[in-house]
Amino acid sequence: MKIVVLKFGGTSVGSIDRIKKVSKIISLHMKSNRRVIVVSSAMSGVTNDFINKTKKISNNFNSAEYDVLVSSGEQISCALISGRLNHLGIKSRSWLSWQVPIFTEGDYKKSRIINIFKKRILNYLKSGGVPIITGFQGINFENRLTTLERGGSDASAIMIAKFFKAERCIIYTDVEGVYTTDPNLIKNAKKIKKISYEEMLEMSSLGAKVMQPASIQDARLNRINIDVKSSFTNNTGTLITKRKNISKPKIITGISFTKNDSKITLLGITDKPGVAASIFEPLSKNFINVDMVVQNISSDGKETDLTFTVKNDDVVKTEKLLKENQKIKFKNIIITKNVSKVSIIGVGMITTPGVTYRMFRALAKNKINIQVISTSEIKISVLINKAFVKKAIKSLHKEFNLSK
Ligand code: ADP
Ligand code: ASP
Ligand code: MG
Repeated sequence: MKIVVLKFGGTSVGSIDRIKKVSKIISLHMKSNRRVIVVSSAMSGVTNDFINKTKKISNNFNSAEYDVLVSSGEQISCALISGRLNHLGIKSRSWLSWQVPIFTEGDYKKSRIINIFKKRILNYLKSGGVPIITGFQGINFENRLTTLERGGSDASAIMIAKFFKAERCIIYTDVEGVYTTDPNLIKNAKKIKKISYEEMLEMSSLGAKVMQPASIQDARLNRINIDVKSSFTNNTGTLITKRKNISKPKIITGISFTKNDSKITLLGITDKPGVAASIFEPLSKNFINVDMVVQNISSDGKETDLTFTVKNDDVVKTEKLLKENQKIKFKNIIITKNVSKVSIIGVGMITTPGVTYRMFRALAKNKINIQVISTSEIKISVLINKAFVKKAIKSLHKEFNLSK
């Protein structure tokens, strides 16, 4: 049995009119000789609304109940899609994760799919039905609902494609594919025809919301090709695939940016072994993700300054933990909320010298000050004032000829 997995994101199912449109797309796929499995996200805005409600109930909302609540948006959209397909005379029903079942492991809010029982869905496909499966949710071995982190319907689609050995996995979204940078911010961003898993993983981890980072890890591990395209137009999208399938990699493939970072600097901390570990241990125990880190060279060998970034949502907790930490001493703490990380990504930079210089020169020409730098084999990230993000991206886009 040849199978295609179609995943629809929040905006694609964001209204009754949109649900009618995606039902039409599904019915067109049924004309091919493949069986169709649909995965849907919640209607746009619904998941955010649930999360806001948890914050109003408690600043320490129980994680298991959080998953029960925030995964419920997917139940609504799946029922609406099935209902519309039934209206069109197509056999279809919704499948919640526990009905499949889709098993996950790991903590609530950020579980990962480890197994999907195929029998019921296969029987349903054989009977000519179109299953509409809830994205983003699963169950754990304690028989409780779990969710797969924000944007997790992408991971649901990819793991369903893996377990059902689908021929194609199409991610339908509100843009025509993966672009050189966010097309909603930079008008001359260009659609990328093919991108490697490695570059896509960096792009999404560094802020490109179009694909969830964990989903790309799943795709890379399982060698699942992903088509990303629009549910609004019929144009060709982007293929996310292995590096070997890409003939001429560019030096820079894309530019990503973050919107909600904060910079924390500890001034005058004692410069001795173990200090950094003492600073970061309580943060890690409290699930605070520390990103860019720089430590200044100590001029007198006694004291130094340490700078790092965390998400805005974690700033208050981080400050409290640092101030309460008996194991460390520092003279002052400076918190800057309005910073952004801008990153250039490309496998081509491994073999091309001078990329770092070109990036810094382009930013300097635009009088953009770099606050922190971090690099890996295929990316360079800089932390800058948030007010200059658009200017920075435009200048880098031009420097590396990304609109061509
Ligand atoms: P969905 O609801 O379909 O899952 P998302 O909102 O999660 O869609 O992701 C699509 C959004 O990702 C686009 O509307 C776009 O603004 C944003 N985006 C950020 N960076 C990129 C990029 N490099 N290419 C395409 N879209 C991007
Ligand atoms: N509805 C979930 C979210 O908003 C999952 C998804 O959109 O993929 O994060
Ligand atoms: Mg998404």
